[in-house]
This record gives sequence, structure tokens and C-alpha cells, in this order.
Amino acid sequence: MRNQQATQLVFELSRVGRRGTRLPDCDVPSDEPIESLIPADQLATEPPPLPEVTEADVVRHFTNLSTLNMSVDTHFYPLGSCTMKYNPKRNERLAGLAGLAQIHPLQPDETIQGVLEILYAVQEMLAEISGLPAVSLQPAAGAHGELTALLVAAAYFRERGEKRSVVLIPDSAHGTNPASAQMAGFRAVSIKSTAKGFVDMADLDAKLDEQTAVLMITNPNTLGCYEQQIEDIARRVHKKGGLVYLDGANMNAILGIARPGDFGADMMHFNPHKTFSGPHGGGGPGAGPICVAAPLCDYLPCPALVRDGDDEQARYRLNYDRPHSIGRVRSFFGNVGVLLRTYFYIRSYGADGLRRVSEDAVLNANYLLSKVRHFLPVPQGDRCMHEFVASAEPLKKQKGLKQPAMDLGKRLLDFGFHAPTVYFPLTVHDAMMIEPTETESRETLDAFAEALFRVIEEPAETLSDAPLTTHISRPDEVQAARKPVVRWTPD
Ligand SMILES: *Cc1c(COP(=O)(O)O)cnc(C)c1O
Repeated sequence: MRNQQATQLVFELSRVGRRGTRLPDCDVPSDEPIESLIPADQLATEPPPLPEVTEADVVRHFTNLSTLNMSVDTHFYPLGSCTMKYNPKRNERLAGLAGLAQIHPLQPDETIQGVLEILYAVQEMLAEISGLPAVSLQPAAGAHGELTALLVAAAYFRERGEKRSVVLIPDSAHGTNPASAQMAGFRAVSIKSTAKGFVDMADLDAKLDEQTAVLMITNPNTLGCYEQQIEDIARRVHKKGGLVYLDGANMNAILGIARPGDFGADMMHFNPHKTFSGPHGGGGPGAGPICVAAPLCDYLPCPALVRDGDDEQARYRLNYDRPHSIGRVRSFFGNVGVLLRTYFYIRSYGADGLRRVSEDAVLNANYLLSKVRHFLPVPQGDRCMHEFVASAEPLKKQKGLKQPAMDLGKRLLDFGFHAPTVYFPLTVHDAMMIEPTETESRETLDAFAEALFRVIEEPAETLSDAPLTTHISRPDEVQAARKPVVRWTPD
């Protein structure tokens, strides 16, 4: 049964004259009536058509709306690559402390030493985790980090007088990689993957030359596999004078275990909203801090957050004196709220705890893989890192479904599970990319595997109509893309 009330607009609840609060008329004499403060041509002749509802109507309306979506706080959310891990409430409380939440980014540096000290510590932590010494916290999302780092690479080559125009990208990469390369003024060239999902070394060698500026590589890759030849790959790129960029979206699998700087990366971004538990996917903005090797340091965005003096006397300030910098890429200091949560997350786990996060994430993914493998093919591997990619392709033949991964994902909603990522990466047909994250219990993983198994057994009509019991039925995404947006107008 769909819950109609929960999906009504607040305007539909409106009744003329209904009020939340009734205020007495103002009995304070005013020298300046409102009409004299606002120019006549900007004064409304009638009140705006706002909904007229009681306080209880409003509270119920928005509380109900807040339950229509699935979230990490309400449901298992195995959205591969997006790392929808639980957001500890402690982080929210700490980030909301008045000394952090109520400062203004235009305050002089001397008055915000505390937050600058935290951000500086975040820089040091990310440098340690990445094995790359220089950090910029400015980029506002992973994709923005990619773009920023590629602009840094472009500045580096320009200064060296090298004309390099190509960015090589494995075909399993996230779509942001070629988009960032293009936006930074490079030409994106795709590298094939082998049947096992790794970089095809012959194809790499064929495309790698003195035109290559950067190889952008995701490791563990988007198929959930660790690129076993990563050091060799990096060596080949370096030999041609190119740089290696690591898309760090999958750092959740290797925290404290492998460092990109050690396996050959020269630049990388973190997705703190994935790896370090910043709320995202409707829950908040992300961030995309980047770390680079020493020769690229001078080109990082301006200003840089620096420390003067030793531990006891340390003062923090923003340094604008950076003649080689690519300039500013984000206002103020970046998305500070997300970076604060990063700090609290890392500090609350500690170094050993972070390693444990990755070990548990990998263990959970392999546990689920060992179950799912019995009823869906997983083309790349018997083992995975923190996620794996199953294929729903057999259901095309078996049930005549056109988009089986989509249908399974929609039906899982009825069972109380958020859908996995579907149809990405593009290298697996009808991909279902499943990432359980480290905080899920064995019972939750068992229940999800059981639901997926039951869903696969259902008749084709059930699947292609799904979801059946959620508040909103399946939107016609093809139609919706064509239709203009219909605006509601009050009658
Ligand atoms: C999420 C993701 C990105 C992009 O990060 P955003 O923060 O969403 O911009 C890039 N690459 C991979 C592999 C990702 O999973």
C-alpha cells in the first residue's frame, strides 16, 4: 500500500485561515511604517500564496517526507564506489561545537588558530596516509580534486617547457576522470582492461609515449580489484616522463595497508565523504583534498595553510605568496565541515583503528561476495577488495528482462535495501556494484544476500514493475528526461 498522505504537497494540506501561531498586533509604535522602507513598486499588493497549515501539519509533513528516502541511518546502503558508510553521530556533535561552527571565514587568521590547527593536522594526516607530502584541502569534491591535480600537472609541464597533451585512463574508470582531463585541457585516451579487470599492459605500452602527461588510475580499481602490477605501471609511465594520478575514491580498502606514494602515485585525491564518513548523497557536501609529490608542491592552489614555529609556539596562517601556484580553486578553506569530520573520524580510530576499518571493509565485501557468487556471476574474481561487481546479464535471457540490474535494484527497495550501484562500471554488462562497508553486521549481510536471492527468483513482471510497496513507484526515467518540468501553480 502506498502512503498517499506522505506524498502530498504541503500546499495540498492548506486550508484558508489555518494558522500555526497567532501573533498579537504589534503594539510598539514605529516611526517608519514598513511601506516607507520598501520602494512602492517592490511592495506586494497581496500576501504571497503560502500554504496555510497548523504547526502539527508542518511537523508531520516534513517528518513524513524525511522517511520517504532511504539513508544510511535507516537502511543498508551498498552503493558501490560511493562508500555509503555510517556517519558517526559523535562527528556531527563535534563539528557543531560553537568554536567551530560559529566562526566566520573572513575572520583574521589570529582569531581562528584553533580551526586552522585542526585543518593543518588534517593535511599532515592525509600526507601520512597517502605517502605524498604536500596537501591542498581546497577542492570541493573528488571530481574537483581530479581537475585541480590535473591543472597542477599542466602547470608543472608548462614550467618545464614540455608539451604533453594526453591523459591515459583505464576503461573501467569513473566518468569524472575523462571529464576532468578534458576540462583541464588534455585529451583523454582510454586504456583497455583485461578479462580479469586489470590494466592491459600491452595496450598501455602501445599508447604510452612522450605525449603522455598523466595516467589516471583507480586502485583498488572500480571492479574491486587491486591492480597487481601497479608499481610496474607507474614505472613505465615515469620512464616516459609522465605523472601518475591516483583516483583515491577506493582508499577505504587500503588505509594503513598500502600508500599511493609508495606504489608510484605522484598525485591523488581523497573523498572524505566516502572514506572518512562525511555525510553525503543528499546528506551534505563532499570534499576532495589532494596530495602531491614534492616536485609538484609549488603549483598547489593558493593560499596554502602553513605553520610557523615549533609545537609549543606554533602559529597558523594562510600563505598567499606562491608565485607558481595555479591559484584559488575554492572560496575560503574548502568545505571545512567535511574536513572537520575527517579529523574527528581519523582521530577517533587512530592509526591501528584505520587499518582495521579497511580490513573489516574488505572482509565484509568478501563475505558477501562468497554468497552472491552462488546466484549471480562475478566476472572479475573469487576475491575482492572493499567491493565487487556482479552481473545481472543472465536474467536477460532467463526472464526476458531488458534492464535486469535496474529491475533487481528497484525490487530490492521493497525488501528494505538501498539498491547497489547499477550499470557502472561500463566494462561489466548489467553491472551491480556492491559495497557493504565495514560497519555492517553479519546478520545484515546475510539478510541482503537472502533478499537478492529471493528477488532473482521472482517473475519477470514483478521485477519490471518494481518497486511495488515504496511510497513512490518507478519513475519513467526515459519519459521524464524528455518532458519539461511541470511547475505547481496555486489556484
Ligand atoms: C565518487 C568517485 C569519484 C568522484 O568523486 P566526487 O566526490 O563524487 O566528485 C571519482 N572516482 C571514483 C572511482 C568515485 O567512486
